[in-house]
Amino acid sequence: MSRPIEALIHVGAIRSNYLNIKSLAPTSRAFAVVKANAYGHGLLRVAQALHDADGFAILEIEGAIALREAGVTQPILLLEGVFSHDELMLAARHDLWLAVHEPQVIAWLETTPLDRPVHVFLKLNSGMNRLGFPAGDAKQVAARLGACANVAGITLMTHFATADDPARGIAAQLACFDAATEGLDLRHSVANSAASIAYPQTRRDWLRPGIVLYGSSPFAARSAADLGLQAAMTLRSKIIGTQRVQAGDAVGYGATFVADGPMTIGIVACGYADGYPRHAPTGTPVLVDGVRTRLLGRVSMDMLAVDLTALAGAGIGCSVELWGAKLPIDEVAAAAGTIGYELMCAIAPRVPVLTV
Ligand SMILES: *Cc1c(COP(=O)(O)O)cnc(C)c1O
Repeated sequence: MSRPIEALIHVGAIRSNYLNIKSLAPTSRAFAVVKANAYGHGLLRVAQALHDADGFAILEIEGAIALREAGVTQPILLLEGVFSHDELMLAARHDLWLAVHEPQVIAWLETTPLDRPVHVFLKLNSGMNRLGFPAGDAKQVAARLGACANVAGITLMTHFATADDPARGIAAQLACFDAATEGLDLRHSVANSAASIAYPQTRRDWLRPGIVLYGSSPFAARSAADLGLQAAMTLRSKIIGTQRVQAGDAVGYGATFVADGPMTIGIVACGYADGYPRHAPTGTPVLVDGVRTRLLGRVSMDMLAVDLTALAGAGIGCSVELWGAKLPIDEVAAAAGTIGYELMCAIAPRVPVLTV
């Protein structure tokens, strides 16, 4: 038998989560955001689960082309656009839509012979100060794009910095975007997962949900279950060794955990080289045979230790859920000082992935 770790991908959950978001905004269309290998879930697997999605949004042009080659006929948006003149030609050849966020790409659009005109998403910076033209330039840039024979259509796009934080919200950025684009008769795409859920006024022509498709909550204070989301990934392994320790005995690298009495330790075949966060501290929740217990000491490259003391009969061969259907990834992420996004994206190539 091979090393017992595996990631199960629950494709029914991904479908259910997509339909959940669609039901909030029945008159909008929604890209399924599948960048970063569909947040670690497998690009083609997710595209197949969402074969009737309105469209897909991705960063990596290789992935976009792979979707086309797999038969995807819906719109595919390149969220960061193209990075070279050659990529622009490739994008047109594969009928990809592209975000345009800086002047160089407009110059390429104006001068490059393309197989067909492309639909562009004019990305405006409304206050996040990451990518995009200054929102105040919207009309001027839209006019320049509109005059370009290679541009088949324009959608206006922006991205929110604090849609996940109810104390800060999106009001200032949305006001900036709306003021700058007033009078332009163009489609809008502004909402990520958090905005789609929390701010109905952001449910415009195209939503861009990512994290919710995978069953993780974008909000620190609202659980995925509260939002009606289902976990899309279960990371599981097994206990492959046990130790009996006494008061004063330490566990793992750095001897950071020291027993204060007799304990049974279980060693799980999962470590940071599998994508489990090394900075998860003692106390991070872990399920052993469905029962909640805690991580002990430092996570190693290939193993981690859990407390089996209160789990009568638990030992080698017991199943371990690191996160998933029964243990929310967001709880593990919070314990490790990160977010569900980072954990799911970090699943390592050596972990076998099964579609269930
Ligand atoms: C990743 C991304 C999204 C999806 O964000 P979630 O928080 O995962 O919903 C939406 N829009 C853009 C531009 C992105 O890069």
